[in-house]
Amino acid sequence: MVAMPSEPLPAIAIVIPVFNEEAVLPELVSRLTAVFDSRRDCRWSAILVNDGSRDHSVELLLATHARDPRFKLIELSRNFGFQSALAAGLAAATGADAVVTMDADLQDPPEVIPALVDAWRGGAEVVRAVRRSRSETGLRRLAFDLFHKLFSALSAYPVEPNSGTFGLLGRAALEAFNRLPERHRFFPGLRAWVGFARADVPYDRQERAAGQPQQTLHRLIRYAADGIFSFSYLPLRVLTGFGLFVAFMGFAAAVFYAARRILGIETAPTGYTTLVTLLLFIGGVQLIGIGVLGEYLGRVYDEVKQRPNFIVKKRTGLD
Ligand code: UDP
Ligand code: MG
Repeated sequence: MVAMPSEPLPAIAIVIPVFNEEAVLPELVSRLTAVFDSRRDCRWSAILVNDGSRDHSVELLLATHARDPRFKLIELSRNFGFQSALAAGLAAATGADAVVTMDADLQDPPEVIPALVDAWRGGAEVVRAVRRSRSETGLRRLAFDLFHKLFSALSAYPVEPNSGTFGLLGRAALEAFNRLPERHRFFPGLRAWVGFARADVPYDRQERAAGQPQQTLHRLIRYAADGIFSFSYLPLRVLTGFGLFVAFMGFAAAVFYAARRILGIETAPTGYTTLVTLLLFIGGVQLIGIGVLGEYLGRVYDEVKQRPNFIVKKRTGLD
């Protein structure tokens, strides 16, 4: 009997940004290992990107790599932020047939990964994990909902409001992603932008397994602004429209007051309050306008500087 040459098993890399996650890493590693071991029909690896952690995350991950070389590590030279760490991991995953992107904090449960892989094998190049439930409540929840309403109203590439980073990219989508040079990255928007056949896999979002959220509210707001300003010119258009409206009102007022003068209805110098109100109003409108322009200009400046998105200090287990 001659053994049939079997097809090589698909290589799946899990890309996970890590910032001060020592409290969750042991559980993350053991749950990922369980998933890897339960699915022998894939060649698994995990690329953990240490985004300048100030705790013992790196030591833990180095020890993990020594025990199980399927866990690999990229250390960035400092904290670059979640999006940059993700970009670093995706750039290092070029040998994989598919990459799974997820958070370290186990809000994205590793047990969903096989379903993502199955959807990919079923022909989807981009797979989004879509939460059936959301663990955020209160103000954060409100802010998320508001952002998604705004984003889908503004952008030509709507994102699924119940999806985040968790998902899978096939090799072609990954290569498209890695060719995107931009610095202000909004992952869900870019995932919509690259196109390809898509599939959604529902899952239940978990609470953070341990530790504190590492994304500050300030960072999340910047992220939301990146989403809007890098996918829409609408703020600029609204401004132009509003400018035209104010100019028209000014012109109408001028005609109105001039007519009153000419007809002799009013001759005494009145209107101090009107003057001050208009001055402040128009001044305010102009400042808002400059602010919106500045948002775009600052982003243009960042792109023109051509600084890399991240700097790698050390790789462990990757060539
Ligand atoms: N993270 C990172 N760099 C940062 C902040 C966060 O790599 O500067 C990682 C973090 O370790 C986690 C993921 O990004 O794996 C999401 O962070 P977090 O859970 O704090 O964000 P949230 O769930 O609140 O969006
Ligand atoms: Mg989280």
